[in-house]
Amino acid sequence: EDEKKKYVKGKKLGEGTYANVYLGHARHDPSLLVAIKKIKVQKEYRDGMAPDAVRELTHLQELRHPNIISLLSAFSSKDQNLNLVLEFLPLGDLEMLIRDVDRVRYGAPDIKAWMGMLTRAVWFCHDNYVLHRDIKPNNLLIAADGEVKLADFGLARGFADPGQRMTANVITRWYRPPELLYGARHYSGAVDVWSVGTVFAELIIRTPYLPGDNDIEMVRLISRAIGTPTEDNWPGVTKLREYTIPIEVTPVADKATYMNRFGSVGPEGVDLLMRTLILDPRKRITAREMLEHKWWRTDPRPSRKEDLPRKS
Ligand code: ADP
Repeated sequence: EDEKKKYVKGKKLGEGTYANVYLGHARHDPSLLVAIKKIKVQKEYRDGMAPDAVRELTHLQELRHPNIISLLSAFSSKDQNLNLVLEFLPLGDLEMLIRDVDRVRYGAPDIKAWMGMLTRAVWFCHDNYVLHRDIKPNNLLIAADGEVKLADFGLARGFADPGQRMTANVITRWYRPPELLYGARHYSGAVDVWSVGTVFAELIIRTPYLPGDNDIEMVRLISRAIGTPTEDNWPGVTKLREYTIPIEVTPVADKATYMNRFGSVGPEGVDLLMRTLILDPRKRITAREMLEHKWWRTDPRPSRKEDLPRKS
């Protein structure tokens, strides 16, 4: 319970959608830098609920993997807000690299390396019965050694106060799978695999693949680019709470269509991409199956992490 005494809070590093992030260091070792993420907790969770949140987070502390950000500690402060002490990763995130088209060049070997790290992170989460639920380039932080680390588990966000949104930053829908857009209540690791697929696509084309402004537009974009969900390709879809009958039905995109847009990762890469973007979550590839895909062993080999492009 004296977790907060173990760390000294320093200057503010940044503001996120639902949290402020501060630099910090371990009291016993000022060279051990950390990021302290202070999440504003919703009113209904105050008065004793923050400890529950902290308890829920303790299992994330046990989730140790090179491609998952380390949660070193969690505590609630006097004001009942939730503080997460995280590994300090000051080199930015994958979104910054994807967007900096003028200065950051990368190719298929780099994409393969980044995708390998992301897939291993997601496989490890699912193997430990943890769903991430918010995989996007901005949540893939870069470590000094080039390792990409999955950050920002949606769990903490569940306690955050959306009314107190601190920036104009909107929680993005672009990586959300069709089953969630249709209001499915029972979902699985397949939700994260879809997000991994949309990140894969974005790494290739360097622009968000399905940038819908709202849920209706999201469904329309998915329908046009990937195919319209129907009882034929996804038995049971029409029973989902928020399923809408499509105005126009587009058949599921074939390999040639994907090759035109994503061919720079080769036919095997495109095969993997297509399997992550299967509409029916039960038919979608799993993270474990992704790791067994032949793309990883097909030329070109993934870049070594020390050779990956970084923020200039
Ligand atoms: P968002 O997800 O909305 O970008 P976050 O709340 O995750 O925002 O983080 C806000 C800012 O704090 C980030 O843009 C980044 O500059 C910084 N930050 C977040 N986490 C870390 C970390 N582990 N190490 C270093 N800086 C971080």
